[in-house]
Order: sequence, then C-alpha cells, then structure tokens
Amino acid sequence: MRVLVPYSGLGTNSTYGMYRWLTETDYEVVAMFLDVYYSSDEYTAFEREHFYRGVKWFKDNIRDFKTIEKKCEQVYPDSYEPVRENFTLNMETGSYKNMRKVYIDTAKEYKVDFLSSGKSGEDSNGSLSKAVSISKGSGYDYIHPSWSLTEPVTLENRDQAIKEMSAKWSQREKLPQELRNIITDCTCKGDKGICYFCLDLLLNEVRPETGQELDDVILEKLCAGKFRHLADPKTFRLDRRTKTYFMLLGYDTEQWCNDPVVEKELSDKAKDMYAKAGNI
Ligand SMILES: [Zn+2]
Repeated sequence: MRVLVPYSGLGTNSTYGMYRWLTETDYEVVAMFLDVYYSSDEYTAFEREHFYRGVKWFKDNIRDFKTIEKKCEQVYPDSYEPVRENFTLNMETGSYKNMRKVYIDTAKEYKVDFLSSGKSGEDSNGSLSKAVSISKGSGYDYIHPSWSLTEPVTLENRDQAIKEMSAKWSQREKLPQELRNIITDCTCKGDKGICYFCLDLLLNEVRPETGQELDDVILEKLCAGKFRHLADPKTFRLDRRTKTYFMLLGYDTEQWCNDPVVEKELSDKAKDMYAKAGNI
C-alpha cells in the first residue's frame, strides 16, 4: 500500500500523521511538502527547513520513505460559504478547493492507494463537508490518522469520526521529544510579544491537564469535535482560536493586546519554551 501524506514540517497534525504511518504500518509513504500560493516566500522557506529537519529525523530514527515538493497554485478564486449549513457567518473555502486539487493530481501522479488527511478535532467545528476529508468524487479514500489508520472517513461514519478524532494537544504529547522540538517553533519566537503559534504551543507547557484532557477542554471552547453542537448558528465564528487560547492560558480578554505586563510574561514563557526546544 502507498499513502500520500501532505506534511508541513511545522504542523502538529501532519507530524503526528507521519509518525503514525511510519511506526504503525509498513506502507510506502510519500511525504509531500506544499509551497502554497497564500504563504509568503519567507514563511515557505521557514516551513521547508522544518520539513527537511523532520524528514531527517524520521529517516534516521524510523525508516526510509519518499519526499516530494509541489506547488499549490490558486486555480479557484477566494470564495465564501456559511461557516456551517444554516449558520449566519461565512468562511473562505477557495483555499480548500485549491489544496484538494493538488492532493488529487499528486495522488494520480504517484499512484498512491489513498490520501492521509491532517484534519483533527480542532478542525471539526466548521461546515460538515469541510470538518473531515471525504473521498466523494475524487476516487481516493482519505484516512485521518487523528481517528484511524485503517477506516476511511465516509458520509456514513463522518459524525462518529468527528466525535472521536484526537486534537493537536494530545497528538503533541504522544510525539518523541526530538520530533516535538522541531514543531516547537514560530517566526516570532516570542520576540515581539506573542503570536497565534506561541499561544497554541504554550497550552501544552502551561496547562495542568494531560494532552487527552486538554483536547477536551479546548474543543469544548471551540465548539469542535464532540462539542460541535454547542455552536450558536447566529454568532459562531471560526476565527476565535487565538483569543480562546489566550483565555485558556489564564488571562482575561480585557488584557488582550493592551496589557504590557501580560505581553512580557507570555513573551518570556514563549522564549523559554523555544530555547528549551533548541530553536533560539
Ligand atoms: Zn510566535
């Protein structure tokens, strides 16, 4: 069996997927780095460096596999759809279609048997058709390592998969330390305050829960996974992750963006985290 694994090098979900494929199966893995149209050249270079650091770790410590690089061009324009069926607010969905096109084209080119999807618990709060990847129409099954390495997600088992898939905090906890050090990085490194990535990574460092418990705490706030039903159709938005993480780190929204003491405190914690991971 041959599986195509989109792998960013910096992302928890795709790193966790790679780790599972390489340690738990003997499938031929094709790891794909994507140069995506909406990322700056600078950010793509940063991601690529991490992709090859990860590839080296996997090859040195687990087993050999194929790596490829592809460009994701903008074929479909930006488009907007309701955040969920019958919800008021919109989300951008053009980028999803553009990514899907590269996945399918590359799957054909490399004659893989199925595709690996990085979709995980935290991605499952939007529209049902985007919450998980489904093979519908593409001819390829999508397997989600956040849920199962053997069962593709279908229209029939989709609801069950969404309820059961792991999120990135428990995934991060399951990775070997060296691999976790590679993904514990961001371009700001806590230098000028903190960014979304700093907040996300700090949750594992600062919160008292185990990864599994942390998944539940965060998914509930994001109205994702088994907590999808908590979303209010009139007010629910997908772009609340940064603020949610900020609050889960113990701060008040009033302190968001205007409290220099909090900014310094978080920035110090982030710098400490990146230094420990060997990325400063
Ligand atoms: Zn940062």
